Amino acid sequence: MPALPPLTIFLAEPRGFCAGVDRAIQIVEKALLRFGSPIYVRHEIVHNQHVVADLEAKGAVFVEELDQVPNGGKVIFSAHGVPKSVPDEANRRGLYFLDATCPLVSKVHHEAQHLFQAGYFVLLIGHKGHPEVIGTMGQLPEGAVTLVQTVQDVHALDLPDVTQIAYVTQTTLSVDETRDIAQALKAKFPQLIEPKKDDICYATTNRQMAVKAIAPLVERMIVIGAENSSNSVRLVEVSKAYGCPQSKLYQDASHVDWRWLSGATTLGLSAGASAPEVLVEELIQACEMRYNVILKRITLGSENVRFNLPRVLEDS
Ligand code: SF4
Repeated sequence: MPALPPLTIFLAEPRGFCAGVDRAIQIVEKALLRFGSPIYVRHEIVHNQHVVADLEAKGAVFVEELDQVPNGGKVIFSAHGVPKSVPDEANRRGLYFLDATCPLVSKVHHEAQHLFQAGYFVLLIGHKGHPEVIGTMGQLPEGAVTLVQTVQDVHALDLPDVTQIAYVTQTTLSVDETRDIAQALKAKFPQLIEPKKDDICYATTNRQMAVKAIAPLVERMIVIGAENSSNSVRLVEVSKAYGCPQSKLYQDASHVDWRWLSGATTLGLSAGASAPEVLVEELIQACEMRYNVILKRITLGSENVRFNLPRVLEDS
């Protein structure tokens, strides 16, 4: 049998699950234990089909809107957060609900509300249509927050004569792009108030930092994650921008185009914050069947963040 070609895999650390995703999944699992099936979940609890399928197998029922939840049903809101109208509607219908919104997203909700109440004109840096952006905009009355997606959007902004202006951001953006947009805002509105602490979360920042370190070292980069996972998509963009133009997002090993990898002797590997570690392990195993793999861990720090569960589930 011919010798397998060599492949050095540079494995990014940190990668994969963050504390907010871990908490959201635990909320669904513990709610199933505590209350039994069915537990309804509004929107994918986190953006990963493997996680969703696993929870469905345990008895969770995923819906997009509350009107798909029958009267008397129990429903969980996803980690991305929801507009205020959603818990209002759940209360109106007498539904029992648990909120799996990541506490770092809730922090942005509180900031936006605080700024609005203090009389600031609020801008949100984020991606139109993402559930987190819909949720954050939905904390304020209709029209009270303006979305900014790019530096070009900043140039095109035509605001009324405001003296107090501030911004918040989506938690899963590119650190570099957001800095550029914030700088453009600051140049246009010198009175701009910036968040005291970055809204881009620790997990997004750390995963991008590790990918930035690996990208210049490798011929190919694979990020494990879903196409609708904002932080996963950002990792691919960051990898391309930092020296690895051949970077791809794959949801799991079964989707890898092995012809794309052929000829390469170095591969970077990371995973978005909603991608289970088992998918990374399966990808390494799939590589080991085709290559003589040397695994190098590139560690850019460790994480020990943990969020409390809703009290009703703590003993489940
Ligand atoms: S990526 Fe960040 S904001 Fe999103 S769930 Fe994880 S820790 Fe929370």
